[in-house]
Amino acid sequence: MQALEKAATYLNYIRGEWTASATGQTESSINPANRNEVVGRFQSSDARDVDLAVAAAKAAQQAWRRLPAPARGEFLYKAANAIERRLDEIALTMTREMGKTLPEAKGETARGVALLRYYAGEGMRKVGDVIPSTDGEALMYTTRVPLGVVGVITPWNFPVAIPIWKMAPALVYGNTVVLKPAQETSITAALVVECFAEAGFPAGVVNLVTGRGSLIGPALTDHPDVQAITFTGSNEVGKLIGRKALERGAKYQLEMGGKNPVIVLPDADLQLAVEATISGGLRSTGQKCTATSRVFVHKGIYEQFKALLVEKTMQLKLGNGLEPGVWMGPCSSERQLDTVLSYIDKGVAEGAELLCGGKRPAEDGLADGFYVEPTIFDKVDPASTIAQEEIFGPVLALIEVGSLQEALDKANDIHLGLSASIFTKDIGSMLSFINEMDAGLVRVNAETAGVELQAPFGGMKQSSSHSREQGQAAMEFFTAVKTVFIKA
Ligand code: NAD
Repeated sequence: MQALEKAATYLNYIRGEWTASATGQTESSINPANRNEVVGRFQSSDARDVDLAVAAAKAAQQAWRRLPAPARGEFLYKAANAIERRLDEIALTMTREMGKTLPEAKGETARGVALLRYYAGEGMRKVGDVIPSTDGEALMYTTRVPLGVVGVITPWNFPVAIPIWKMAPALVYGNTVVLKPAQETSITAALVVECFAEAGFPAGVVNLVTGRGSLIGPALTDHPDVQAITFTGSNEVGKLIGRKALERGAKYQLEMGGKNPVIVLPDADLQLAVEATISGGLRSTGQKCTATSRVFVHKGIYEQFKALLVEKTMQLKLGNGLEPGVWMGPCSSERQLDTVLSYIDKGVAEGAELLCGGKRPAEDGLADGFYVEPTIFDKVDPASTIAQEEIFGPVLALIEVGSLQEALDKANDIHLGLSASIFTKDIGSMLSFINEMDAGLVRVNAETAGVELQAPFGGMKQSSSHSREQGQAAMEFFTAVKTVFIKA
C-alpha cells in the first residue's frame, strides 16, 4: 500500500466555525485493517462543547424555520453536489476508518448524495391536508412545524448514509441539528459536515461534536434545549436514551439492533438463496443492522443448501477493503472483534457445530487488522445465545426446520424484528411469510439487507421505538402536526 500522509487533525463544527474542543484533547482514529495506521485525529469533546453546539443550533433556529422549505431544500442540493464532488475521498476515508470495502463505501457515499437530493425535493411537497369543518364558514387544515433543535446520534456502520438520512429530513423540515457521530468514524463524519459547510448553510444550522458517546451523548440527550433525539445504535444505549427523553418530555426515535432471519423452502432457487444468505449475512463483515444472522432451512434441501453455503463461503476473499478483489474487510474495531470472537466461543460452548471459520485468519498481512473468518454454525438451538443476541459480525447460525410454520414460529421467537426474508416460488408461502413475520422489512427472494431510501425503514418489537425513518415517513418524526381552524 502507498505511504500515507501524516494524519490530520479534525475539529468540531460549531456556529459555522471549525472549533477545537474546550478539553484541548484529541483522539486517534485507527484503521481496523492495520492497527498501526492512524487515519486522523478528532476532538475528544465534553459537555462544554455540546453546550456551545446546542446554543448555536438554538440561535439559528428561528431564521432557519422561517425560510421557505423549498429554499431550505436548495442547501441540501448544494450539500449533495459537494459530497458527489468529494465522493472518492469520503469513501476512501470510510474504508480506512471502519473497514468496509471501497466499492461498498463508494455505494454508501452515493446513497448519501441520493438521500440529500430526495429530501431536497421533499421541501417542495405538501405537509398537510384540508379537513372539512362542521362550521360552513371555517377553514380547517393541518400543517407541520419543525421541532427545534434535533440531536443526531449515529453508529459507525453506515457513517455517511445514517447521519444524512437523519440530518437531511431534519433540516428540510426546518430543524437545526447537532450531530454526534460514533467516535470510530469521526473523521468520515467531519468530511460529510465539511460538505454541509461548503453548501453554505447559515451558521449554527448544522453542528458537529465528536468524542466519547458515554460522555457527550448524555450531554446532548439530556440538554433542555434539545427538543428531539434521533438515535441509531445498540439496544442498550437506545433504551437509556429513550428513558431519559421520556422523562424530560423530548421526542425520540430509536433504531436499534436486528437478528434477522432468512427462511429457505424446498422450492427455492437454491443458488439464489445461498448467494443472498452470504451477501446478506457476511457482506460488510456482518456489520449491518439488517444483516442475515439466523438461517432456517427446510429439511428437504438442508444438506444441499449447507454444502453449497460452506463451499461458497470458503471462497470469500478477506483483506484490506482498499485492495481490489477483497470481498470482506475487518471488524470495525478491536472491541467489535473481541465481541464477535466471544460469541463464537459461546456458540461452541452451547453445543453448536462449527462448519467453517471461527477464528482470526492466519494469512500473511492480516495479523495487524481486526479480521475474523466468515463463520457458519450448524445444529444451532434457536434458543441459544448465538441465535438470540445480535452479534454484529460475520457469523451465520443454521437451523433445520420441517415446515414454513415451524420456521415462522422459531423466527418470531425473539425480542427483535428488523428485517427478514424468504426464498420460495410459492405465492401462498410468500403471503404467509409477509403476514406472519414480525419484522419491519420483509423481503421475498431477496437478502435481508437492502433498504431503499424512498421507502419507510424501521423495526418491530425491540428493534425500534416504532417510528420509521427514510422516505416520507421521516416527516412524522421531524415535525409536529398543527391543526388550524380559521373562522372568517
Ligand atoms: P452504540 O449504541 O454503541 O453507539 C451508537 C451511538 O451512540 C454512538 O454515536 C455512540 O457514541 C453513542 N453513545 C454511546 N453511549 C451513549 C450514551 N450513553 N448516550 C448517548 N449516546 C451514546 O452502537 P454502535 O456500536 O455504534 O452501532 C452498532 C449498533 O447499531 C448495532 O446494534 C446495530 O444493529 C445498530 N444499528 C441499527 C440500525 C437501524 O437502522 N436499525 C442501523 C445501523 C446500526
